[in-house]
Amino acid sequence: MLTKDQISKNLRKIKQEIEEAKNQSGRKEDNIILVAVSKLQPAEYIKWAIEDGHRDFGENYVQEALKKMEDISEPDVNFHFIGRCQTNKAKYIAGNFSMVHSVDSLKFAKELDKRCEKKDYYQDILIEVNVAKEETKGGVLEQDLEKFTEALLKECSRLKIKGLMCMPPYMEDPEKVRPYFAKLRKLKEDLEQKLKISLPHLSMGMSSDFKQAILEGATIVRIGTKIFGERQYKK
Ligand SMILES: *Cc1c(COP(=O)(O)O)cnc(C)c1O
Repeated sequence: MLTKDQISKNLRKIKQEIEEAKNQSGRKEDNIILVAVSKLQPAEYIKWAIEDGHRDFGENYVQEALKKMEDISEPDVNFHFIGRCQTNKAKYIAGNFSMVHSVDSLKFAKELDKRCEKKDYYQDILIEVNVAKEETKGGVLEQDLEKFTEALLKECSRLKIKGLMCMPPYMEDPEKVRPYFAKLRKLKEDLEQKLKISLPHLSMGMSSDFKQAILEGATIVRIGTKIFGERQYKK
């Protein structure tokens, strides 16, 4: 377990490093959202971070996330859904998260759209791209991205596409991950041009590689371990 003080220190340090990377990337004016990934960590950690002024949290497992949310009364806290999108979970996701980062199937998207319609909710989403074509990971393949995006635009009026997300392979040397971040940025720019849409967000970069992600244009980084330490629970 970490103490409240340790988490507070970690948050401050990460925010400082984000600032530095942002300045280095020449995007001084941009606001980079730090999603503190609290999956498999005690609800207490989230409360401490909120008391410390933090507002964005990432969760991978719907039931776990909803349970943690029950105890949080602050109105302006944002939960981001960053886990695998399973169609049977869409009804629990709809309306409960400020952004869903990992949309990668039309079946799920349609179900989420339907559930949002019922709740009269417009859901911000990102499309996850499988940038390294890894079989074990979710995400739309590069060659399917344009068609997939068009289908979402056409068939899911409740889903507001805000950008792209990726989870590249872990590498000892984070510089080796950089080409994947550059690729996601390029895919985003191509989509914007081809489909004449605006995609403000690139959700990329985790504890080990968020600086490289920011240098390649990340607007949202998702950081768990470097804030909350090793995860407490197993899945
Ligand atoms: C767990 C997780 C993270 C955070 O990973 P850390 O290495 O602990 O920073 C970020 N994004 C996704 C999608 C995750 O599942």
